[in-house]
Amino acid sequence: MTQSNPRVAIVTGAARGIGAAVAKRLAQDGFAVGVVDLHESSCADTVKEIEAAGGRALAVGADVSKTDQVDAAVGRVADQLGAPTVLVNNAGITRDNLLFKMTDEDWDSVIAVHLRGSFLMSRAAQKYMTEQKWGRIVNLSSVSALGNRGQANYSTAKAGLQGLTKTLAIELGKFGVTVNAIAPGFIVTDMTAATAERVGMSFEDFQQAAAAEIPVRRVGVPEDIANVAAFLISDEASFVSGQVIYVAGGPRA
Ligand code: NAP
Repeated sequence: MTQSNPRVAIVTGAARGIGAAVAKRLAQDGFAVGVVDLHESSCADTVKEIEAAGGRALAVGADVSKTDQVDAAVGRVADQLGAPTVLVNNAGITRDNLLFKMTDEDWDSVIAVHLRGSFLMSRAAQKYMTEQKWGRIVNLSSVSALGNRGQANYSTAKAGLQGLTKTLAIELGKFGVTVNAIAPGFIVTDMTAATAERVGMSFEDFQQAAAAEIPVRRVGVPEDIANVAAFLISDEASFVSGQVIYVAGGPRA
């Protein structure tokens, strides 16, 4: 990318957790960041932290599963920050249950946020990337893509994202756009805290039990994912596309 190309990124689900860490890292790396989450007000902390560190950010409220909200959000980032050439599809939810107890709503909502959301965001943002002849899309998959009890909906969505990643890499490569996925293992966020609560463990005990099973003997933190995202988005990674990188403290694929 030349200096004249806009360095503008969009990170979805960036109000907290992994998305917030990625947004802050990209701001440190010189990107103006569209901080997208369900409610504009919930993006305030991330935006404030970026601005306090001397960066530029814009809070944008949007449900990534809704076409009109996605198109408006991407358009707003383009108008106010510049053409978005980086997209991190991170917004996510869990609605865990064993198959016989999983409701239609559990299934539909998880597929809608992860899969439809990433599709809609990518479709809206690719226009700016292909025009600039440079772009980066990073999708958040999960080790759950390999199968995980109680997560038929989530593991299907996360495996689907790997297919989306590879297909978009094939379609967009000739425009200088790379598309990759990061598949995290256990990362300390509200999402894993909610899982601990659901299985009736304290979050501390839950983390210790998880760490004992992880080869590097620790759980992950959001910055572990932000570091890999920063690499995939860098110019140095321009020959890496269509890949799924497991970031799990050990081999899970
Ligand atoms: P998190 O702390 O629960 O944060 C997810 C964020 O996404 C929240 O701010 C949430 O907003 C937002 N969001 C949910 N639905 C949305 C929608 N329809 N439109 C826009 N934003 C929406 O989750 P996390 O742990 O940071 O996870 C981030 C991503 O990494 C997810 O895709 C997750 O599946 C994946 N991942 C996480 C782990 C892990 O161990 N934590 C492991 C593997 C993969 P609200 O707060 O308003 O709901």
